[in-house]
Amino acid sequence: MPENTEPKRTEISALGEFGLIDHLTSEFPIHHEATKKAIGDDAAVIEFPKDEQTLISTDLLLEGIHFDLSWMPLSHLGYKAVIVNLSDIAAMNAIPRQILVSIGVSNRFPLEALEEIYTGIRAACEQYKIDLIGGDTSSSAAGLAISITVIGSAKNDDIVYRSGAKENDLVCVSGDLGSAYSGLLILQREKKTFEANPNFQPDLDNYEVVIGSQLKPKARVDMVELFKEKKITPTSMIDISDGLASELFHICKNSDCGCSIYEEKLPIDIQTAQVAEEFEITPVMPALNGGEDYELLFTLSLDDYEKVKELHQIIIIGHISDKKDGINLINKAGQSIPLKAQGWDSFRKE
Ligand code: ADP
Ligand code: MG
Repeated sequence: MPENTEPKRTEISALGEFGLIDHLTSEFPIHHEATKKAIGDDAAVIEFPKDEQTLISTDLLLEGIHFDLSWMPLSHLGYKAVIVNLSDIAAMNAIPRQILVSIGVSNRFPLEALEEIYTGIRAACEQYKIDLIGGDTSSSAAGLAISITVIGSAKNDDIVYRSGAKENDLVCVSGDLGSAYSGLLILQREKKTFEANPNFQPDLDNYEVVIGSQLKPKARVDMVELFKEKKITPTSMIDISDGLASELFHICKNSDCGCSIYEEKLPIDIQTAQVAEEFEITPVMPALNGGEDYELLFTLSLDDYEKVKELHQIIIIGHISDKKDGINLINKAGQSIPLKAQGWDSFRKE
């Protein structure tokens, strides 16, 4: 065996809590004037825009429940932990600006592991111009936990809730569905193969799109900008974290309506279809129930149809109907099939 093949391992305790926080957070530039004080005091100070509302959301990610480090590289975990929060603000038609990051970490993890997580966090902050303004750091008895809180803003009239969909509205999505779940299927399969034979080198070249969707999803803040530019305000909106079917149930429940979506309209990437074929499932399954795509699901008034019909970022998949019609998928044969909300749920028993 050649020397120095072991990765460098520095105990977190070597730095102490304050040294650790300084070390991890030193290279985060501030992008927004409204961030008056970021890390380094007892609290951060931010100025709320005068004519805007403030939106706040938080998300908790636990090792073994929400992520599996055997196929999730730590930098991607940090990146994705930020993205899922930004996505929640985008789903309100608002712009995210600041985050707080709290981490619980056991002594199984060296300093280098935390550095990798923060590399991912920094990449997401750079890409979306987000200020890291604080957080908390603690040791944990076992495992890794990351909780991120995001702060954003929007004009009162621009904020979009889950509750505004009306009969005849168009049901739309912002991009491909089922990709992230297909990526997960591939990563889990490679993990099993690797466990059986550690010398096995996975060939992931044909799966770049779906693995990218799983490990490095986008937060569709660009859609918020597009809506503004085109002077469109969705009547309702939600981000697709638990699968299209589950999110349709949220929209319909909150808006007191039903809906029909068309199988032939669902945007499904060719790689998702290929993975579905390999796993002998219909591609509609990951598209409806896969989750973690972080695309936006939204409804638009029919009056906006002329504005959106040429926009490739907006894919019309169906329409809102009366509540008594229920929530249905019209399949390629034209049959109406009631949907089930089979989204991912960490409390559900297997
Ligand atoms: P306190 O003891 O008052 O909670 P801390 O020592 O935990 O203060 O935090 C010191 C500063 O570092 C604060 O500004 C806090 O928001 C920030 N901070 C702590 N942990 C993190 C972290 N994991 N990521 C980003 N900022 C952090
Ligand atoms: Mg603290």
